[in-house]
Amino acid sequence: MNELPSHYNGASVSLSILIAAVASLAALYMARQVAASRGRSRRVWLACGAASMGTGIWSMHFVGMLAMELPVDVRYDYRLVGLSVVVAILTSGVALFVVGRDSLGAGWLVAGGIMLGIGIAGMHYMGMSAMRLNAHIRYDPLLLAASLLIAVAVSIAALWMTYRQRHAGSRVKTTAAGLLMGAANAGMHYSSMAATSFATDAHTLIGTAHQTASPALGFTIGIATLLVLVLSLVCAYIDRVWMAQHRQQLERDKRIESLIRHSQDGVFSFTLTGRLLDANQAAERMTGFSREELLSMPPADLICEEFRHTTRVHFEEAVAGQSRNFDSAWTHRDGSRIEINNTNVPVVVEGAVVGVYTIVRDITDRKRSERRMKHMAHHDDVTGLPNRRLFERQVAKMLSGPTGDVQPLAVLFLDVDRFKFVNDSQGHDIGDLLLRAVATRLRNAVGDAGIVARLGGDEFCILLSSGVARESVEAMAMRINREIDIPFSLRGRDIHITASIGIACYPEDGDSCIALMKHADTAMYSAKENGKNTYRFYQQTMNEVLTERVQLENELRKALERDEFYLVYQPQVDIASGRIVGVEALIRWHHGKKGLISPAEFIPLAEETGMIVPIGEWVLRTACSQAKRWHQDGLGSLRMSVNLSSRQFLSQDLADSIRRIIRETAFDPGCLELEITESMTLDVGRAIATLHQLKELGVSISIDDFGTGYSSLSYLKTFPVDRLKIDQSFIRQMLSDTNDRSIVATIISLAHNLNLQVVAEGVETGAQSAFLASHGCDEMQGYYISKPLPAADIRRLMLGDDCAEEVRIPPAGA
Ligand code: C2E
Ligand code: MG
Ligand code: MG
Repeated sequence: MNELPSHYNGASVSLSILIAAVASLAALYMARQVAASRGRSRRVWLACGAASMGTGIWSMHFVGMLAMELPVDVRYDYRLVGLSVVVAILTSGVALFVVGRDSLGAGWLVAGGIMLGIGIAGMHYMGMSAMRLNAHIRYDPLLLAASLLIAVAVSIAALWMTYRQRHAGSRVKTTAAGLLMGAANAGMHYSSMAATSFATDAHTLIGTAHQTASPALGFTIGIATLLVLVLSLVCAYIDRVWMAQHRQQLERDKRIESLIRHSQDGVFSFTLTGRLLDANQAAERMTGFSREELLSMPPADLICEEFRHTTRVHFEEAVAGQSRNFDSAWTHRDGSRIEINNTNVPVVVEGAVVGVYTIVRDITDRKRSERRMKHMAHHDDVTGLPNRRLFERQVAKMLSGPTGDVQPLAVLFLDVDRFKFVNDSQGHDIGDLLLRAVATRLRNAVGDAGIVARLGGDEFCILLSSGVARESVEAMAMRINREIDIPFSLRGRDIHITASIGIACYPEDGDSCIALMKHADTAMYSAKENGKNTYRFYQQTMNEVLTERVQLENELRKALERDEFYLVYQPQVDIASGRIVGVEALIRWHHGKKGLISPAEFIPLAEETGMIVPIGEWVLRTACSQAKRWHQDGLGSLRMSVNLSSRQFLSQDLADSIRRIIRETAFDPGCLELEITESMTLDVGRAIATLHQLKELGVSISIDDFGTGYSSLSYLKTFPVDRLKIDQSFIRQMLSDTNDRSIVATIISLAHNLNLQVVAEGVETGAQSAFLASHGCDEMQGYYISKPLPAADIRRLMLGDDCAEEVRIPPAGA
């Protein structure tokens, strides 16, 4: 046997190593593609990758083999060569499959490595056995085993590196890994070649090299393979870049889609011609229509008639590339109106508008609350009438034109008389109902002629803008007075109130809103002074009256401190015996400068300002201690009557304050009588409760000025009262007016039926006294007996001293 010498063609070896490196790189990039793709594209990449990697590995070996020059004729069995290519490709397929997996465990790695190693070795030895030459091929078993081990080890390492690098590590690392794998692959080839030796029989002629498959063929195959590999690398690279772009685009699309799908706002996607392409769930919710219904209906049908034009204009602007935001209203599927805020956004692709997104937000609630807020800011919530702000604005608006153009106006200032009393006595519920009812009557009375507003409390203002001739305004004021004068029926109660109206006209009484309202207010006060339930046109002199009133109010506050009040007492006589049985305490104000001021003048003012409460307490205390002194002086058990005002009567701690005064003055409550008026008993339940509290103190109660009020006779029997005081207006005319005469007679007999005593007030003549006596009236009081007197005079009178001529004690039974 002759061992054949073999040597390698250096250029071919270099080429084979280069192919190994490029094939490894290609394998790496293919593995990446396989790992990054899914489904069919993964399979395609697996197939392409296997083909190029397999071809690469095979070509490396084949070129490596062709690089070996033997001194005998070498041919190849091309079927076996072809089969070795197939083995290389299949093995590469397995390897790519393994490294393309999402995770690579040790089991898979080793199994894959063994398969790849065996595959490569198999391909190699298959290639070797394809050699047809006049020599024997011998393998060194040790080196053969070593080459196999190297093949497996290199394969495992290669798979592992590929797996690690497949998710785009750094480019340098990847390339290094590729080159290393290539070197290892080449190393494996050449180490297994080292295990191979060629020998011929002794007689075989050894000549010069006779490679049929020459290095030129190896070069051709190698270069072609390289080209294929480079091409596949380029393809993989381009695909990778495209895939990345595609993925980004896909992600962007998904993000937008998700944003639209989950948006709380309705999103509509339109073509440039206004055809609806899509609508999200919020759009379905908002409109009540399903997506399919929305797509099949003309979009304009959604929009309320009055907004169709503007909506179309804004859509066209969006088509022209301008984004627009505007409010409109749509019709819900159930027919209700939805307030909408629209944003039209042009969809721009590569600089051209290709569609329009309309983003809509349901602002129905917001609009509603805006309207409510606006209404609340300009209207009174009790009556719903315009408030002061809106009223002033309206007046100012009407006055704002050029001087010559402004039409005459009239401002009526209206105050409800006695409202405070109704509110305090009947409760705020009834008070509010009353204000509402007044508002309705005012609105009906004024109609289209002007605006009615409530300024607050019981004050209303009316702006008359048409029919402002003095007679028409006067007629309107009279009509309002008449309307308000009709009793209101609220929750089964009849409530009677009146109104005082002041009128100021433009241009005579002022040329600004402030001046007109101020003057109308002044005139209203004048109407109040003039007995209420009436109207007054503003006059300049009214201001002076008002100033005086304000002054008086201030002085009233100081009068208590300055000790300017004092009491006088008017005797009350028992008609049957002619004896003085009681006195009524009446307050007087001795004003430092103005002298004596009548209670008729300052009591209403004190009542209005609340001053009546401390003043009333002072009266009670003074009267009780005076009567106590008289009792101590031996004037018998003289009764002391004290007037209560309605403010006092309604105050929560009335009973407590009286109890305190009785205790302080040590006065016998049996001798104290409290005078109330009928008007205080309007709230029957409350009056009864208060009266019982007072009766518990041991005092007696009388109803003053009886006959002038509105109290219902039917309630009289339920009130715990002791005496009725017939109002002096009946007594005064009783002898000349048959009506008054029969009223007086009726009151006396009615009171007696109810076990009440009767006192006649304001008796001025003997004839009146005689008439009362003949009808069985119990007591009387008036100038006929005596004017109200200072305390000292009462004492003298009672003791029968010198002032007896001022007091006329009628004979018993006269
Ligand atoms: P009144 O309680 O009905 O008092 C009777 C009024 O009639 C008193 O007027 C008295 O002077 C007057 N008078 C008495 N006899 C005659 C008469 O024969 N002819 C005429 N023409 N008048 C007579 P005065 O003192 O001016 O009081 C007026 C009203 O002021 C009282 O009416 C009472 O409602 C109120 N008033 C007086 N003092 C007080 C008080 O201390 N507290 C309260 N809350 N009111 C008082
Ligand atoms: Mg009285
Ligand atoms: Mg009276």
